[in-house]
Amino acid sequence: MLEKLTVIVGANAIITDAEAMAPHLTDWRGRYHGDALAVVKPNSTVQVAAIVKLCAENRTTIVPQGGNTGLCGGAVPGEKSNAIVLNLTRMDKVRAVDLDNNTITVEAGCVLAQLQQVSEENNRLFPLSLAAEGSCTIGGNLSTNAGGTAVLRYGNTRELTLGLEVVLPDGQIWSGLRGLRKDNTGYDLKQLFIGAEGTLGVITAAVLKLFPRPKSSATAFVGVTSPSQALELFNQLRGNCAERLTGFELISRLCLDFVLRHISNTHDPLTVAYPWYVLVEVSESASALDAGELLEQELASALEQSRAVDAVVAKSSAQSQALWALRENISEAQRFEGASIKHDVSVPISAIAHFVNQASASLAAAVAGIRIVAFGHMGDGNLHFNVSRPLALSDAEFFAESHRINAIVHDLVHSLNGSISAEHGLGQLKREEITRYKSVLELDLMRSIKRAWDPLGIMNPGKVI
Ligand code: FAD
Repeated sequence: MLEKLTVIVGANAIITDAEAMAPHLTDWRGRYHGDALAVVKPNSTVQVAAIVKLCAENRTTIVPQGGNTGLCGGAVPGEKSNAIVLNLTRMDKVRAVDLDNNTITVEAGCVLAQLQQVSEENNRLFPLSLAAEGSCTIGGNLSTNAGGTAVLRYGNTRELTLGLEVVLPDGQIWSGLRGLRKDNTGYDLKQLFIGAEGTLGVITAAVLKLFPRPKSSATAFVGVTSPSQALELFNQLRGNCAERLTGFELISRLCLDFVLRHISNTHDPLTVAYPWYVLVEVSESASALDAGELLEQELASALEQSRAVDAVVAKSSAQSQALWALRENISEAQRFEGASIKHDVSVPISAIAHFVNQASASLAAAVAGIRIVAFGHMGDGNLHFNVSRPLALSDAEFFAESHRINAIVHDLVHSLNGSISAEHGLGQLKREEITRYKSVLELDLMRSIKRAWDPLGIMNPGKVI
């Protein structure tokens, strides 16, 4: 197998040394460690197709991998696996930019920040933005249908995608790289690969939408007393700023404390501590209207009408970046506080306050001293409702409570018609958990798609279903 793989990609593109393979076999959070025959790094779609065909003939399983920043263990193999890790990061070319059609065609291994950069150089915006953007790839973004901080205005990765090129589990190449806004010619196949976490094929390239760059934008850090007050602020801004409201991120005080404690060059933007904060971003793409003035007016009115208690608006792009850094470093800061259990959930926006209050009370009653690290994309109804271990418990003692803690959070989410995985996917982490909440019919439909498209079961086994 290794000899044949070497013929396809060359000896330099195969890693078999244990130490060199290690970073590819452990997930970003260090919770999953797997084994593999090799890590293989193709540099073209033709090479990917040849590898997949070879694997199908030999019944060798394949784990597609981009930047390995996924948070559900989807991009690493299981223990004692003989899979190959198919790492796409060498496939990072921008194939075309079509300014009239407002599209960009990129290979799957292109790092998100690089894609943003090329878009900017062409005076366009590619709006997907998330804290891992310096390492995550567009193939991983597509395969997890990544969300991020601008979904409120521009949608998830799914909404940003017009076409895909995919290597199917038998090695055939499906070229669906169409940049069409309208195409009603039967089943929309690309939608099944988006969010499939590598279980149906290997995405090798995509046609993505570009947007006008904002002419002005403004960022504010707002103190609020509770998630209910944050909802009142959201309704005001959504109503008055309409599509200009680009980001609306809820942050609890404990999150800010963690960031200030562990991340250098961070400062509390407000002089008084508040129990909750909202990071607001407003941007204007068309008219001469100044986003900063609009946001200041709106916040003044919000303070007058008790929809917020304090606020600061960034006066420069450096200040804006500093405010965003507080939000984007929460996950990183939480790593220093010992074991954590993460919940990436969504509920209708109207139910967020009830969810936060109810889940916090139930968890506090169940595990004394549990520390609730709640933050996220409130404008999308999506919270990262994470919990850090009580100071009195060891990591192992806390992890022993995982099942009980997950049940409290996920049962509540389910009762509110929410989702137990809003943006990170299922991977290995939630593969079992999802069977408690999806109907038998829905799971059967998913399994029948998997069987039809990957009858040998070689694509990313043990993930999703
Ligand atoms: P990987 O981790 O390598 O892979 C993820 C999944 O996609 C795996 O199942 C893998 O098998 C599959 N896959 C990868 N490439 C391909 C391919 N070419 N074809 C088929 N399958 C493939 N996510 C959000 O949605 N929103 C956020 O705001 C967000 N913030 C984050 C912040 C931090 C600090 C970190 C570490 C992660 C965050 N994430 C977020 C999660 C993660 O960054 C995203 O899931 C990202 O889209 C994964 O991209 P990746 O290239 O690292 O994929």
